[in-house]
Amino acid sequence: MESGLKDKVAIVTGASRGIGRAIACRLSEDGMKLVIAARTRELLDEVARSCTSEVEPVYVDLREESAPQRLVERAIAKFGRLDLLVNNAGATKRGDFLSLTENDWQDGFALKFYCAVRSSRTAWPYLCTSNGSIINIIGVGGRTGSAEFAIGGTVNAALMNLTKVLADRGVRDGVRVNAINPGSIATDRLQTRIRNFAVDNQISQNEAADAMADKLGISRFGRPEEIAEIVAFLASTRATFVQGAIIDADGGQTKTL
Ligand code: NAD
Repeated sequence: MESGLKDKVAIVTGASRGIGRAIACRLSEDGMKLVIAARTRELLDEVARSCTSEVEPVYVDLREESAPQRLVERAIAKFGRLDLLVNNAGATKRGDFLSLTENDWQDGFALKFYCAVRSSRTAWPYLCTSNGSIINIIGVGGRTGSAEFAIGGTVNAALMNLTKVLADRGVRDGVRVNAINPGSIATDRLQTRIRNFAVDNQISQNEAADAMADKLGISRFGRPEEIAEIVAFLASTRATFVQGAIIDADGGQTKTL
């Protein structure tokens, strides 16, 4: 079945590496034109070059209040329409509650939560016109609290509720809003944690990865491409009755309903 995405236009935030990069490349395979955003010019340009469709990179700090407006304006100026917003950018500091500073909290919310709020608000009128959609990349830490993931967990919980809020509004306005909760995905950040675990426990990196996966109750870590595949499905005409869904892609890590 056709995806219906060819020549449609998407914004992907945090697309210079990891899950965002994989999403940009996957949507490009389906023929979507893209605005991709992150801070690092070299990485973002490299992603643009490896995509097969037209891609407009925007180098921007997404914590800034004006950044989402710039992305939407660029999409409209360059491509004349907007069909999909993927709120992916996020980086929240891990650590025990009492060790986290005011600035750590502000920073985590500024990037992952407020950027998604602002981007969704700015994109909304254009998505109404195109009967488009929003996909939030959130994280299973929003479902299950953990002492070491205070900021990420609370940001993610807030974004799950925002997904439901916008999905409800979207019924009226013809905009679909859904979310994916990745579990542990093998991006650079996870590789660093695996390396550190291996050094701390004096074992090989493979042994460290197995031990960490075992602790989470999963058989392996996920791949960025596996998240990208779900994004491509949710954005496509195959998923037009999917509204307000929050899909856990975590290898079975989340045991609760
Ligand atoms: P990553 O750190 O590999 O990539 C994050 C992207 O956001 C990069 O492109 C980075 O340049 C960009 N970014 C970071 N700060 C920015 C800023 N201030 N301004 C503009 N761009 C900025 O992250 P990832 O692992 O690919 O995660 C992507 C999303 O998925 C995040 O929201 C993350 O919380 C979520 N997630 C990831 C995992 C995982 O295991 N990797 C698990 C659950 C949720």
